[in-house]
Amino acid sequence: MAFDDQRYEQLDYRRCGTSGLFLPPISLGMWHNFGTRADHDTCREMMRTAFDSGVTHFDLANNYGPEPGSAEERVGRILREDFAGYRDELIISTKAGYRMWPGPYGEWGSKKYLAASLDQSLKRMGLEYVDIFYSHRPDPGTPLEETLGALDLIVKQGKALYAGVSNYRGAFFVQAAETVKRHDWTPITIHQPCYNMMHRWIEAGLLEYTAQYGAGVIVFSPLAQGLLTNKYLDPSNPIPRASRAADPDGFLKKEAVTEDVVSRVRKLANLAQSRGQTVAQLAIAWVLRDPRVTSALIGARTPEQVKDCLGALDNLAFTRDELAIIDALFPAY
Ligand code: NDP
Repeated sequence: MAFDDQRYEQLDYRRCGTSGLFLPPISLGMWHNFGTRADHDTCREMMRTAFDSGVTHFDLANNYGPEPGSAEERVGRILREDFAGYRDELIISTKAGYRMWPGPYGEWGSKKYLAASLDQSLKRMGLEYVDIFYSHRPDPGTPLEETLGALDLIVKQGKALYAGVSNYRGAFFVQAAETVKRHDWTPITIHQPCYNMMHRWIEAGLLEYTAQYGAGVIVFSPLAQGLLTNKYLDPSNPIPRASRAADPDGFLKKEAVTEDVVSRVRKLANLAQSRGQTVAQLAIAWVLRDPRVTSALIGARTPEQVKDCLGALDNLAFTRDELAIIDALFPAY
């Protein structure tokens, strides 16, 4: 089945830092909902729906599943089934940092682990290279030079085109950016931190540094894993069966759905309604209000959720009053 010829007219692609890489304002990640237990046709439809609307970027990590590795296997299968001939139109990323196999070489940031893990990821996805390869988390036990040297090696080997870091705090990111500069290594093109109304640390702790070193920023969990949607607002069904909070493998725990959070999101829902948006659309538009944010990296359970999220792009402008309401509900820190 072909894709919409007009798909690239539908989005305003954003430059990733000072690089030549442009990313869609919304990208789709496979942390949840693409593992062993997922419905294959639903996964296909989510990726097809996204790509059909101009979403060129799919984000993975070695450990996404469950089982770890299974999301990469599934995406590899979908790339073969539905995206044969489209590889050059896609930005596929993966990461290594969390535990993948037993022993001292199965996690963190050593050269041994990063190189072996990417080789495994490429095999699982059936790809010759990924577009972005990330150090998934800082490793206090490995010299930063070794981790970044491994990213440089991987890019020079042609196994990845761009290097990225994820979950590096501001000062550590600066150290990393300075290190690659000093060695004239592959630059850090992109940073992947968490950012949403409930987790605002990057506003004062990262964005000025990524801008200073020319890195783009793709923010994960813009919906706070579903908390910043209408999902948990129905008092007669506070934790719906088909929700991340109800899933024993889900990273969002039921305990996070507190009365306090729900009451604040209810107020947010009034604001969303006045803007003609769903809560999810408002939450995505809000993270994209800062031009230093290159892309909002969403997760989804259904193609309908993907479509709903893409609707955020119809209204990205905020008035001062609207921003003040959000600041009052979810203060910056
Ligand atoms: P989100 O904050 O976007 O949460 C996704 C969840 O929100 C969905 O599973 C769904 O929940 C709900 N949702 C999505 N769209 C809608 C909608 N339109 N209406 C109502 N509910 C909706 O992001 P994730 O936490 O999933 O993270 C996104 C991606 O970011 C990951 O897939 C991964 O690629 C990346 N990531 C990276 C990390 C890192 O350390 N680098 C860490 C975490 C994520 P439900 O399932 O309940 O329906």
